[in-house]
This record gives sequence, C-alpha cells and structure tokens, in this order.
Amino acid sequence: MPALDPVLAERLDQLEKRYLKRRLPEVREGVISFCDNDYLGLRNDHRVVAASVRATEREGAGSGASRLVAGNHILYAPLEKALAAHKKTQGALVFGSGYLANLGAISALVGEGDLIIADKYCHASMLDGAKLSGAKLVRFRHNDMAHAETLLKSERGQYRNCLVMSESVFSMDGDLAPLADLRRLCDTNDAWLLIDDAHGLGILDQHAAQPDVWTGTLSKALGGYGGYVAGSATLVDALPSLARSLVYTTALPPGVVAAAHEALSIVDTEPERATRAMAYARQFTEAMGLPQALSTIVPVQCGEAEEALRLSVLLMEQGILISPIRPPTVSPGTARLRIAFSARHTEAEVEMLIAAMRKLNGRKAA
Ligand SMILES: *Cc1c(COP(=O)(O)O)cnc(C)c1O
Repeated sequence: MPALDPVLAERLDQLEKRYLKRRLPEVREGVISFCDNDYLGLRNDHRVVAASVRATEREGAGSGASRLVAGNHILYAPLEKALAAHKKTQGALVFGSGYLANLGAISALVGEGDLIIADKYCHASMLDGAKLSGAKLVRFRHNDMAHAETLLKSERGQYRNCLVMSESVFSMDGDLAPLADLRRLCDTNDAWLLIDDAHGLGILDQHAAQPDVWTGTLSKALGGYGGYVAGSATLVDALPSLARSLVYTTALPPGVVAAAHEALSIVDTEPERATRAMAYARQFTEAMGLPQALSTIVPVQCGEAEEALRLSVLLMEQGILISPIRPPTVSPGTARLRIAFSARHTEAEVEMLIAAMRKLNGRKAA
C-alpha cells in the first residue's frame, strides 16, 4: 500500500468524527432543490439551451486554446459589451469562472507591499486571490464600517496600494454590503474597492455606488458557467497582461459563452423573474417569523454541523434538497441550512418547504 492513503485516511477520519467530512451529493430526480444558485430558472430555459446548442454545433465543443492564443472567440465581444452595459461600466472581461475572476483580478491589482482589507465573510475565492497576491490581508467584522475604518487608519500608511473587498450579496447569509459607505470609506482613505457580485447580478443590481472593480459569475442567476471582471476601460485593458488566471487557462467553450449572453438578455428583458424569486424568499421569512429576506438567500441557523446535517437528512426524506453548510465554509458554531429561492419554484413548492420546516421546528422544540 502506498504511504499516501493512510495519511489521507487519518485526516478524513478526524473530519468524519466532527461531522465535517464532505461528500459529493448525487443530484436525484424528483427532489426539489432549495439550495442551488439558479435563481432565475435560466439553466433550463429553452432559449438559453438553444443558443448554447447553436453555438456548439457551429463552432465546436471546445475553444481550443487560451483567450490570449486562439481561444478568443468572436462570441466573447458581444457578451462583454452586454455585461459592461448591465453593470454600467466602461468594460468587462470574461474569465473561466467566478473563482478564476477573483483569483486573477486580486492578484493583478495588488502584491507584496500592498494591503487588502476584506469583510470577514468574503468568499473563499477572494481570500485565495489575496493569498496568491502576496499582499498583507486584514479582515474587518462583517459589515462593520467603523471597524474597517479603524483598520484603514492604522494600517494604510505602511503600504503602497490598498484594496478593500466585500460582496454585494453575501453568499452564505443573503445580506447586503453597504456599497455607498464602502465607496466613501475608500475615497477618503486612498483605497480601491472590489465588490464580488456573484449573488447580486440579475437579482439586485445596485448602482448607488460604483466600485473600482466588479467581479462576478455567469453560473448563478445566469444559469451557465464562467466569470467576469467589470470596470474601467484601463482595467479591462490591463488584465490580459496581469491576470494569470486569464492567461494560463483555456477559454470557455463557445456554447457556454453564447448561453451566458442569451441569459443576460433575458435578465434585462424579464425583470419579473427576479421579482418572483424575491417574493418567494420574503414569503418564507414571513411564514417562519425570520427577519425579512434581503435577497434570494435565506440562512436558517443550526449551530453545530451535526444538527445541520441531521435537518438536511430529514428534509430529504420529504423530498427537499437543502445541503448543510458547515465549517470551514462558515465559522464554527454557525452551521446552517442555506435556503435559496428561484423564479423556477412554484407557489406550491414554497408552501411545501414552509410546511416541512415547520414540522422540523416542532420536532426541535419537542
Ligand atoms: C460562487 C461564488 C464564486 C465563484 O464563482 P464560480 O463561477 O462558481 O467559480 C465567487 N464568489 C462568490 C461570492 C460566490 O458565491
């Protein structure tokens, strides 16, 4: 037996004991998912699928190379133009995924001798980007502007450039960052602002304050795959020279690019989809006596990982898929069910979820 397996087996054992071992759950038919990010139901929209099939049949299954070599297909430019128009920026650049967009943008903008100040709840891909950049990373308490300002005032002077990072809609909590306050904070403290819009695009498009850099994904509300960075023309001009996660990876397949463009057109012309998803989220929080939903994401706190796992299994017995969210995705002691609503759901499905959750609450109390 090779020496690798016993070492891994021991690590897995430790995780299993703490209810933290992860498995890749199989997507089963006939189960209603309330935990995916297809908020607008565009993943299976016939127009999106048709656009993808058309482009695949015409252009092939793959792109053949990096965008910098031979993979920069003609379908990219119209998608990037549409993304920039949607985000009200001068330009946009498509990456292989949202993860790669954060990795590439952050490590392109700052490096050793620079400072990153990030919200405590920032997504793992932003933290990985920060690590990769070599910049000094400090984190402020979630949405605590006074804490962010204190850190800026005490640290800023020792570094060359400073990047402040947050999310428009927080992925595991569904709450929102105060974008206008963050903008002001950056303006008065000589810092740049990067906002990850992964769960905002198409749902809550905020333009009250423009960050210097938007990052985001084509794989949530747009229902497909890929990521993007949006901002000034200079930013978009600079990234192909600076962002390694754009340069050293193969471009997205043509069908994926075409699907995202079609989905974005639907987002722009059918705002009622976002309205419906938001209405379901609010219907749920009202029925459950929770604070009003601010986005399509509603966390139900469970405390320990074991409890989140247990509730998830009970829900599955009733035909509802809500995967438990456990550390290290969230802080220890804050394991949860992250419930996500979609325009694709029906009124009856939302009622079914409410009934199932009430039953669980009853059981918890007993
Ligand atoms: C999902 C997510 C990403 C990663 O996007 P992918 O396209 O799935 O790689 C980045 N940031 C946040 C906040 C996310 O929720």
